[in-house]
Amino acid sequence: MEKTILTIDVDAFFAQVEEIKNPKYKKKPIAIGKKINGKGVISTCNYIARKYGVYSGEPIFKAKKKCVNLILIEPNFNDYIFYSEKIFKIINSFSNIIEISSIDECYVDITKLIKNNQNAFFWAKKIQSKIFNDLKITVSIGISNRKILAKIASKRKKPFGIYSIYQNEIKEKLWLLPINEFHGIGLQTARKFNNLNLYKVEDLAKLKKKDQYTILRNMIGKNLDLLIDEANGIGNDNLDTKEKDLKSISFHETFKAPILDYKILIAKLKKLTIKAVQKLNYRNLATRVVFLITKDNKSESRIENTIEKAILLRKIKSKRILLDHYEDNFEIIFSFVLKLFDDHYQEKEFNFIGVGLGELKNKIYLKKQMKFDDDFNEYFIKKENKTINSKLDDLILNINSFFNQKILIKGNYLLKDNKYQDRSFSNRDQIKFKAWGK
Ligand SMILES: [Mg+2]
Repeated sequence: MEKTILTIDVDAFFAQVEEIKNPKYKKKPIAIGKKINGKGVISTCNYIARKYGVYSGEPIFKAKKKCVNLILIEPNFNDYIFYSEKIFKIINSFSNIIEISSIDECYVDITKLIKNNQNAFFWAKKIQSKIFNDLKITVSIGISNRKILAKIASKRKKPFGIYSIYQNEIKEKLWLLPINEFHGIGLQTARKFNNLNLYKVEDLAKLKKKDQYTILRNMIGKNLDLLIDEANGIGNDNLDTKEKDLKSISFHETFKAPILDYKILIAKLKKLTIKAVQKLNYRNLATRVVFLITKDNKSESRIENTIEKAILLRKIKSKRILLDHYEDNFEIIFSFVLKLFDDHYQEKEFNFIGVGLGELKNKIYLKKQMKFDDDFNEYFIKKENKTINSKLDDLILNINSFFNQKILIKGNYLLKDNKYQDRSFSNRDQIKFKAWGK
């Protein structure tokens, strides 16, 4: 049976969230963006601002020239994540075959729903209304039997629209469009086509048979072949649903006899943290909450079958730290585990100890949603540098694990300007390093 795929895309998502928080913005031109050293681009803007010609990706100073009254709002990613999760939760109640492609866009396979005698438009309308009724947020929906066509269709009737383009309709619904309206083709690329007498999406779709192909292929590169496939509705139609969703990762250990020794407990915590971070990275996730779970000798009650349940029933204790960013690095995560332990649990005996990571996000998804956030870019740049060094890091980690203490570290962790200097080590370690005169 043919698939029915929806692309659901929130209209001017960040702007809608800001309007919900601050209803007076609804009647004013607003844009979300952040200036750094006086420069910056618009991340998104509401439809009033769009009437002035302001668009996503435009430099802020240019947008301000077009629209002098433009209100610039700094992005509040926590709010966007909050609403994004609510939206995906509603969509998930209709079908759990979802591929989340960014903070405000996803593909949903509704093939199963169609079996119940209702057509795709009925379900699209139902999902759209449910999101609007519950959250006062408008989305636009594209319907198709092909993923790429559903995506293209979702952009055709914005805002608050529903449109379908099935494979057998591309001639009427897609090929007649001017080439600059095809997604992925900006004004400059469109001009290259126009200069060669190519004006419609149909010209793109049939380009391989035309003389202009070689000229454009040299100008545009590999991307051109992809665009040609897309203009023909050809692409991978499988939904990547892997993201669904680990809420937390935790590992724990129960001891036969209670343990008091600080060094032994730290070594246990380290092993548990290594396991948790390995799982985190294996699933391509990053975490924002680090928690430590303990049960001391006095408490007689049995551990419940899930840690969350046990915490809820207060049969075990949990202390947590909410980080100001998403993290996936062992050294840093372990430094928070140590901090929790040093702050709350020294000089106690335990017969149960565990490490948990919560508020998990897929890193691809984070990278997309945070692309306008400087700190986040910085984080990923750091991360890329890190992968170059990762073999060395692994070696250091292995040696340290073998000796059960931090006997080797990299010099740059000792530099004053290292952001994580204070957090990377327990107080004890820092005292040690100071004692060495470094
Ligand atoms: Mg959108």
